[in-house]
Amino acid sequence: MKYIVVTGGVMSGLGKGITSASIGRLLVDMGYRVVPIKIDPYINIDAGTMNPFQHGEVYVLKDGTEVDLDLGHYERFIGLELTGDHNITTGKIFKNVIEKERKGEYLGQTVQIIPHVTDEIKNWIRRVAKENNAEICLIEVGGTVGDIEGMPFLEAIRQMHNEEKEEDFLLIHVTLVPHDIGGEQKTKPTQHSVKELRSLGLHPDAIIGRCKERLKESTKKKISLFCDVPVEAVISAEDVEDIYEVPLLFKREKLDEYIMKKLKLEKREEKKDWE
Ligand code: ADP
Repeated sequence: MKYIVVTGGVMSGLGKGITSASIGRLLVDMGYRVVPIKIDPYINIDAGTMNPFQHGEVYVLKDGTEVDLDLGHYERFIGLELTGDHNITTGKIFKNVIEKERKGEYLGQTVQIIPHVTDEIKNWIRRVAKENNAEICLIEVGGTVGDIEGMPFLEAIRQMHNEEKEEDFLLIHVTLVPHDIGGEQKTKPTQHSVKELRSLGLHPDAIIGRCKERLKESTKKKISLFCDVPVEAVISAEDVEDIYEVPLLFKREKLDEYIMKKLKLEKREEKKDWE
């Protein structure tokens, strides 16, 4: 099983969901079986009890689970029907851990975030990936790196990175590249968010820079140098009019080729019907 993890820095609402869905689309088009999992680090069991004015509308899955709109992007981009299993929340993880504790399943141990909560997260991810007969599991970690709610999930991801083979794990970090008043692209927020990620023991393999206009070559070089990723792995995700253009944008940036190289995927017959 290969794992691609998408994290986000600087602020929420950058487009991690669209990014994950678009990467899923590229992989499906390369002929791979993909399963997406969205991690929402809130303590609610699901989005059903959350104020839509605060959180936006919910998306209802076929089993009735009310989830974040990102799951809708996954279904449409990847062409799959998902269930509540594809959405992990802190609420669901803690509920499972507490139920196990009450049943005595931890055999007298002190139940802790590490290893019990992190094990529950890893087991959930690996179970869903296996049950869906996937070759690549795409995991989006909601929220922003550094949020206290996200810590157990990023720790579980760090452990998984160590447990999996180098060619089976890829971390993609989505960040903001703003313009200053003079119109220059600024890389400092990206540098800070990568630093935050590294302080948690994670190092991005690729960086997706959300920006108003296409990332300049000089901006890519700067991000590459300061954040220690190859230039080819700095991907421009400028504003597009239609979100369905994002997979094409990633193809233009050769993100699919980079993913193939890093995960040692062989080329399969491509389906071109959507181009
Ligand atoms: P996140 O998952 O990081 O919170 P989303 O994937 O939900 O963010 O995206 C937030 C908003 O940004 C959505 O309305 C989405 O349509 C929009 N968006 C994402 N990527 C782009 C892009 N490249 N160009 C224009 N809009 C985008």
